[in-house]
Amino acid sequence: MELNFIEHIGIAVKDLDSAIHYYENVLGLKCYKIEEVKDQMVKTAFFRIGETKLELLETTDPEGPIGKFIDKRGEGIHHIAFAVNKLKDQLKDASQKGVELIDKHPRKGAEGLDIAFLHPKSTHGVLTELCENVD
Ligand code: ZN
Repeated sequence: MELNFIEHIGIAVKDLDSAIHYYENVLGLKCYKIEEVKDQMVKTAFFRIGETKLELLETTDPEGPIGKFIDKRGEGIHHIAFAVNKLKDQLKDASQKGVELIDKHPRKGAEGLDIAFLHPKSTHGVLTELCENVD
């Protein structure tokens, strides 16, 4: 596989407003976008730090993936996302190397990126997202 840089780190939070307050007023970052991703049942808030972003995730439904995650493990780091080129080829490569794919085909994520997830049981416990900027 070939990874370009850490595109973002996804962080599950219980309350987006109070988390944004912390990231802005304590860490001094600026939220530049809030976006709801309906099929993932999340509301997201984005911050830039260098070429990497932080993506805060609040569930809009207790049964959504973030709702279940927080239920089981509490707030905290949820996934790490790597920027790649040719996402389809990267997925094929990962799969050929024995990695279980959550998404066999790229789908649309926040920020208009094509994304796909690798299963944490194949990645030493880290839910891993691959993102391609297809603009
Ligand atoms: Zn993400």
